Amino acid sequence: YDDRDGKIWMDGKLVEWRDAKVHILSHALHYASSVFEGERCYGGTIFKSRQHSERLRASANLIDFEVPYSVDQIEDAKAQVLKANGLTDAYVRAIAWRGAGPDMGVASARNPVRMAVAAWEWGAYYGDAKTKGAKLDLSKWKRPSPETIPSEAKAAGLYMICTMSKHAAEAKGCSDAMMLDYRGYVAEATGANIFFVKDGEVHTPKPDCFLNGITRQTVLQLLREKDIPVHERHIMPEELEGFQQCWLTGTAAEVTPVGQIGDFTFEVGAMALDIAESYETLVRS
Ligand code: PMP
Repeated sequence: YDDRDGKIWMDGKLVEWRDAKVHILSHALHYASSVFEGERCYGGTIFKSRQHSERLRASANLIDFEVPYSVDQIEDAKAQVLKANGLTDAYVRAIAWRGAGPDMGVASARNPVRMAVAAWEWGAYYGDAKTKGAKLDLSKWKRPSPETIPSEAKAAGLYMICTMSKHAAEAKGCSDAMMLDYRGYVAEATGANIFFVKDGEVHTPKPDCFLNGITRQTVLQLLREKDIPVHERHIMPEELEGFQQCWLTGTAAEVTPVGQIGDFTFEVGAMALDIAESYETLVRS
């Protein structure tokens, strides 16, 4: 994965894929001082590209550093990477982090902020779940309180328990884990937001301690356009029994129906499939 042909944009210029390296004493590696974006390019256009670039800069501010590139410069970097790699349908990963420098303690004011953009082809995030429904485990880890971490940032530090949760789920034959929040309410999957359907109405957790995904916001807009009632609210895990459909939303996951969470089962129903199709149409329009 590292020793291959291709180009990666790093600190203002394109470098060979295999040369896109960082030093072992990079602050981010030791203290998680890193923020990133996951984006998808469809037919040559990145869906909501500027919004992703803005979120990258906002995430950095939330964890106390400044991305040294403007939104326009980040847009240009992404375009350069796609072009240099001959990609029109791809996943795009932008990342900014505190690099190596004179500060190797917790404080890192003097170390340079670095940035990179890579892109590669990435198919369906949950394999054949788009038609069959993904199988989810319930994580033992809880999304932290916004008083313990800036939970609206797309920051590396928030992903440690996501990786642990997803590994535990995969070991049980599931493709992801649903996490509760610090209060015990339903929160999200390890890299995607979650929606439920009951009697033709949609219920989705209020994003008050986890990422309010760009795909989530897009799907809420689609639901409004279709005049489907939506309840953004706190959802107790016991309520899962009464929901008939469920789906996940995320840039990588797109809209993926869920067939099972722990012992609860859901149908891959008409609304989940319709929203998935509308999303697919929108991102390619
Ligand atoms: N929650 C988490 C933890 C995520 O990693 C993602 C993917 N970025 C999402 C939600 C969905 O966000 P988006 O729709 O902006 O990709």
